[in-house]
Amino acid sequence: MPGAIDLHSHSRASDGTETPAELVRAAVDAGLGAIALTDHDSTAGWAEAFAASDGTGLTVVPGMELSTWSGWHSVHLLAYLVDPADAALVAETERIRTARMHRAESIVERISADYDLTWDDVLAQTTAGATVGRPHIADALVARGLVSDRSAAFATILHPRTGYFQPHYAPDPLDAVRLVVAAGGVPVLAHPGTRGRDGVVPADVLARLVDAGLAGLEIRHRENTRSGRERLAELAERFDLLVTGSSDYHGTGKPNRLGENTTEPAVLERILELGTGSSPHRG
Ligand code: AMP
Ligand code: FE
Ligand code: FE
Ligand code: ZN
Repeated sequence: MPGAIDLHSHSRASDGTETPAELVRAAVDAGLGAIALTDHDSTAGWAEAFAASDGTGLTVVPGMELSTWSGWHSVHLLAYLVDPADAALVAETERIRTARMHRAESIVERISADYDLTWDDVLAQTTAGATVGRPHIADALVARGLVSDRSAAFATILHPRTGYFQPHYAPDPLDAVRLVVAAGGVPVLAHPGTRGRDGVVPADVLARLVDAGLAGLEIRHRENTRSGRERLAELAERFDLLVTGSSDYHGTGKPNRLGENTTEPAVLERILELGTGSSPHRG
């Protein structure tokens, strides 16, 4: 498979700014050989991405980024090649998306006490059925002229410290790994080193995730710190985990560029061997 491999990207099915077809076009233009479409808590973009890749030579690996919650921290779990019709997975992702919607409404209600922002402003920034998140609230704040871009919104009004923030329901990481494995998928922890060496998942907790079927760690990601990556490399070695690298592309919603971090072909081959819930689409 020629071309670089980027296993983490978002479309308008969640908080990316491009449609799945536009994302595929951007990946082809960037010269990539394979991308994984990993929208938050949703597989809704898969079909469009598959269709758009036909004739381009791009391989689309179907996936999602499952929201989980561990203690006080949000933990993201990449889930490759799950069965999109798996009943338990469908029920859980629906539960998360509903909770996200209510939580976003509640954040907007708090913000509207101090700023000129309505829930309709936020809905205007989302595609029907999309997984709603703070990025859509950010886009509404931008549209109102209250902040300059998403990053500015996250640094100010949407920052947890400002008091408008609220968490949302999400499963425990261990339950999430089990759910993904039961759906035939390959679970990989997304950007697990953003909080530095001491913020990396403790070895005993990781051991339980690995026992449940966790397959890998996304180490090459722009938000993982240097000390976080060092710790993750030690853990990957100790637990014999796959190591991935990816962009976490969100279109114009984040500075991350497609292919800025990539995954080795042998690692993708192993993921394709392990995943049984769905198949990669070789366009
Ligand atoms: P939420 O899951 O609704 O709390 O929102 C978190 C999401 O916002 C993450 O998945 C990121 O994709 C996105 N995000 C976080 N920080 C930023 C930022 N500074 N600029 C743009 N998007 C961000
Ligand atoms: Fe996101
Ligand atoms: Fe994430
Ligand atoms: Zn992501």
